Amino acid sequence: MDCLLEYSRDALVELLAGMGHKPFRATQLQEWVWKHRATSFEQMSNLPPALRAELAGRFCLRPLEVVEVSESSTGSTRKFLSRMQDGHLVESVIIPAAVGQGGAHSSRLTLCVSSQVGCAFGCRFCASGLLGFTRNLTASEILGQILAAEQIAGERVDNLVFMGMGEPLANMDNLLAALTIIMDQQSLNIGARHITISTSGNVPGLRRLAEFGRPLRLAVSLHGASDEVRSQVMPVNRKWPLGELIPALREWNRTGKHMITLEYILIQDVNAMLPEARKLARIARELNAKVNLIPYNTVDGLPWVRPSEADCKAFCRALMAEKVPVTMRYEKGHDINAACGQLRLRRTAQPGVAPTRVPKIMEK
Ligand code: SF4
Repeated sequence: MDCLLEYSRDALVELLAGMGHKPFRATQLQEWVWKHRATSFEQMSNLPPALRAELAGRFCLRPLEVVEVSESSTGSTRKFLSRMQDGHLVESVIIPAAVGQGGAHSSRLTLCVSSQVGCAFGCRFCASGLLGFTRNLTASEILGQILAAEQIAGERVDNLVFMGMGEPLANMDNLLAALTIIMDQQSLNIGARHITISTSGNVPGLRRLAEFGRPLRLAVSLHGASDEVRSQVMPVNRKWPLGELIPALREWNRTGKHMITLEYILIQDVNAMLPEARKLARIARELNAKVNLIPYNTVDGLPWVRPSEADCKAFCRALMAEKVPVTMRYEKGHDINAACGQLRLRRTAQPGVAPTRVPKIMEK
């Protein structure tokens, strides 16, 4: 069944006109969906009963059913798994106001949103990459995660990070449709500066997002400061190597308003050596970017090892010595499998929800 969440104001006007109703009904409907967070058409008391019945026969208001919620041992970060209408599962993480993105203190409730079921990009450190790509999420399924999180948390989400399962820039049409509603003042009304898009370095997607023209925050999974190292960790680098990615990021800097964040997972004997820190510093300085270091989070079935704390700190100091703004983030909710894809990974034995294809190595 189609979901009404992804209908913008203009789309609602058009839909209702086709059903013989005036534009003010679109305003009423939009208020019920977004201001009152109505969960059924029955609640929409100022709409004619015949219209409510017709809408209920054609549309849903909640495209996801939450099937599991797990809390970290500190009781702060909560991860939830939702089942979609076709039985596939998607996961999202609620990050409390006191923690916020990148470990910074924040008064905002942050949601880490997924954009795809599985992922085709096959980053070697990632549980979602292990599962392969199944399908894109619709705009409604992206928006549905926000409404589900609010129901679990009992408060409004006002900060979004697209860092869950999937590569958001590979699901561009649905991402842009969802962002339009997320930023709309009559809908979720979350400002662009409170939305972070994280990408593995999808160059055409970056250009299209820049054309979208909103001052979104951008986080780039770098994880290697040379093609040799980055291609080991991220197969996407063979399709869009640093020689293409860095110019696209320079271009983003010309249009974006916020400092780019370069995400860098520290993996022992792969990219956590001091010469790599110096290469990373050169890229960060060139892009006027900050670096977010994340000591590797062990994933069952993957070979990488987390470096010692002393090695992580030495890498961090080497960047600071090069005057690069740097933070070190220890994954919140490690004990609830909060690395992307891990909660879902545990449940893939369910019949009917297995991924439909294996990771596709991105090659030219
Ligand atoms: S890190 Fe992101 S882009 Fe890479 S495989 Fe995982 S979900 Fe996909």
